[in-house]
Amino acid sequence: MTDERDEIAVVGAGLAGCLLACFLARRGHPVALYERRPDPRTGTVERGRSINLALSERGLDALRRIGLDEQVLADGLPMRGRMIHPVDGEAQFQSYSASGDRAINSISRGALNNALLDAATSLPGVRVAFDHRLVGLDPTNGGMTFETPQGTVAATASVVLGTDGAGSAVRGQLLAYGLLTESVDFLDYGYKELTIPPLGGDFALDPEALHIWPRGTSMMIALPNPDRSFTCTLFWPTHGTASFASLGSPAAIERHFAEHYPDLPPLAPGLVDDYQHNPVGVLGTVRCTPWQAYGRVGLLGDAAHAIVPFYGQGANCAFEDVVELDRCLDECADDWSEALPLFQQRRQENAEAIAQMALANFVEMRDKVASPLFQAGRKVEHALERLLPGRYVSRYELVSFSTTPYAQVRRRVRRQHRVLGAVAAGAAALLAGAVGLTISRGRRR
Ligand code: FAD
Repeated sequence: MTDERDEIAVVGAGLAGCLLACFLARRGHPVALYERRPDPRTGTVERGRSINLALSERGLDALRRIGLDEQVLADGLPMRGRMIHPVDGEAQFQSYSASGDRAINSISRGALNNALLDAATSLPGVRVAFDHRLVGLDPTNGGMTFETPQGTVAATASVVLGTDGAGSAVRGQLLAYGLLTESVDFLDYGYKELTIPPLGGDFALDPEALHIWPRGTSMMIALPNPDRSFTCTLFWPTHGTASFASLGSPAAIERHFAEHYPDLPPLAPGLVDDYQHNPVGVLGTVRCTPWQAYGRVGLLGDAAHAIVPFYGQGANCAFEDVVELDRCLDECADDWSEALPLFQQRRQENAEAIAQMALANFVEMRDKVASPLFQAGRKVEHALERLLPGRYVSRYELVSFSTTPYAQVRRRVRRQHRVLGAVAAGAAALLAGAVGLTISRGRRR
């Protein structure tokens, strides 16, 4: 039997934790995966908590490395673009890629987590302890305390990795020991999930699109599910006169949706019930530093850098963390005291870059996607991509359909915009010159 003290403890068997357990077991490390919840493969799903998510190239790249991409994609639904729903008039489709055939994938979060859990537990050397909530950690020696239904349990490990999400207890313990600093910037927006069930046995909306209802101060999106339903996520301020708190009765809810999202009520018979009973989730950006202590406690995924969900990249980024940590372990011959600082050095600027792009994308989705100017800009961008293949690549393409590090994406896009700006200024000057010449010739005649 493996001595607990030799194990790598992964705290949090969510998306990043399960994938990490797979990668570590492949390297021959004994892994103890601790999870506060019961086994999700036997329990019921929590109501209204991010049922599906968009998985794109970064996440798929990580899954490919453990041979799980095809299984996960088999239940995924490709979304090739955005379908914009105005208050009045027809919905309009905007392709994500210049070619029109690249897609992000709507995946069930629960099914993905279960597939990863199955993959982890099928590997030799991985054990999972469910119903174990970490409540104490001694970062100097890897001693951990868990609350379980049977009472408090102590455990120890050679290395402790916190993959316990945005409200990470591991991060909280490091903070309590004065070993890191953190900032949590909550958005004044929250989110609530609503459901569009199948209509006559089929999808009620086009399943090959991510649907967006941009409304300036609020926004709703909908992603398709394999059972032909859609999960809608309404983003709205948590407080104020126009906010989740402002709709106090079924009549007020019905009136609000009829006015602002008129195509929704006929498709969502359970709208009022969903609205009244599904919780409002909080959204925010978590930053902390350092991401490790004593070379034996580390943070990954949301625990290190939770971001707002508007680029659909949180889980993709967490998966990319796992790939990078694996690479660092390769380069450092599995010496954790070298690998953990190297991991932070490589990932932190990338996490910051996607955190900022995700915040900026909220403004784009909420305010800009419906504007004719924005739509014309996207068409020009796609034309440039076709004209200069590999030389001009849009931000969306680089973020969602490549594994170019996020910080590099930002630098490259800024460079492209500078060049475009200069070209446009030059063209405008030439045009102005030509017009001036024509006018003065006209006058001479
Ligand atoms: P989590 O998935 O949060 O997993 C943490 C795990 O740790 C959980 O299982 C939890 O039970 C466990 N845990 C917590 N505390 C303890 C403790 N004290 N002891 C033991 N276990 C503990 N990302 C995308 O890539 N694409 C999307 O489309 C997308 N959409 C999103 C939509 C919404 C509304 C939200 C809120 C997020 C979205 N995300 C999306 C982000 C994505 O959900 C997260 O980035 C991702 O889940 C992070 O994975 P993680 O494993 O780090 O954390």
